[in-house]
Amino acid sequence: KIFLGIETSCDDTAVALIDAEEKSVLKHCIHQQIEHQSFGGVVPDLAFKGHAKHLPNLLNTLLKSACVDKEEIEGIGVTAGPGLAGGLLVGVMFAKGVSIALKKPLWAINHLQAHALVARLCCDLEFPYLALLFSGGHCEFVVVYSATEFYLLGYGLDDAAGECLDKVGRRLGFSFPAGAAIEVAAKMGDPLSVPLPIPMRDKSLNFSFSGLKSAALRWINAEGEKKLSFEKKANLCASLQYAIGQGIQKKIENFFDNLPSKSNPRVAVFCGGVAANQYLRNVLEECFLQYDVRLFTPPPKFCTDNGMMIAWNAYEKYRAGILPSMNFSIRARWPIGI
Ligand code: ATP
Ligand code: FE
Repeated sequence: KIFLGIETSCDDTAVALIDAEEKSVLKHCIHQQIEHQSFGGVVPDLAFKGHAKHLPNLLNTLLKSACVDKEEIEGIGVTAGPGLAGGLLVGVMFAKGVSIALKKPLWAINHLQAHALVARLCCDLEFPYLALLFSGGHCEFVVVYSATEFYLLGYGLDDAAGECLDKVGRRLGFSFPAGAAIEVAAKMGDPLSVPLPIPMRDKSLNFSFSGLKSAALRWINAEGEKKLSFEKKANLCASLQYAIGQGIQKKIENFFDNLPSKSNPRVAVFCGGVAANQYLRNVLEECFLQYDVRLFTPPPKFCTDNGMMIAWNAYEKYRAGILPSMNFSIRARWPIGI
């Protein structure tokens, strides 16, 4: 069964065709908007215009290069939230048009749920599982009971992990988004060289990365932004990654400390753009192993925003018997679960 996914919630315009039963990606086309780089963050108005400009051509290219007959498409998924309202509107209005033109059913997809479910496209993974989602705008600790039931254990109280990396990276002169560049630099640094606070060492399952961000920025100020050698930047990057890893690890420990042993989950998923980070993947994998829990992490291109996860989530809804509908609007704020 072939599903089409359309994603426009932030700065990436992405479309994909997947063969859901074969769990294979037929084609993925993504346009990353570079116009935000000089601003050090996403400019909503530019993002909105970029999606409107590129989405139609991107879908054309996708359909042509995937060699799929439009008739073969079983259904369509589109991100309806959370995200930037302008981009979401472009994606949703466009998807509704495509749905009418092709006479194919359409499902409104929650971007965060799609991040947490896409691991099931990449590997054989049964419900329920734990999911740790870290992206540019969100930190979520959830139990995924089914394609439609998400129980929120903990969430981000302020800056997300990705946001913290992006803001520190900006001051180091890395282009936006800075997560990948920080990972590269960190490989040459010493993780114990810059004393940074381990974020949110409390007993809760919530996250907070703004204190860590401020500490890193204060260190840059004290050292003098212009005078920073590459070695010092690498040290800061390694220390920042280390602190984020320690912070997440503490929350995993909190979870297992308070768990009646019988209800021990067997599998966990690390997802969202920050999960593209190999260092953090290793830290989390080792941490979960102590509790006999296997950690699945989708390959990096399934972690950052993509069309496959939206197509896959449409298939999950179809298989769960959720009826398609045209009667929905965008939801700029839309929690992953309750
Ligand atoms: P949200 O999903 O919360 O709406 P978003 O869609 O903008 O936000 P994603 O695309 O899921 O976010 O993730 C982007 C974030 O991932 C950015 O903050 C980016 O810096 C970070 N990121 C990407 N690659 C890496 C990496 N290799 N290491 C660390 N962080 C990374
Ligand atoms: Fe995302």
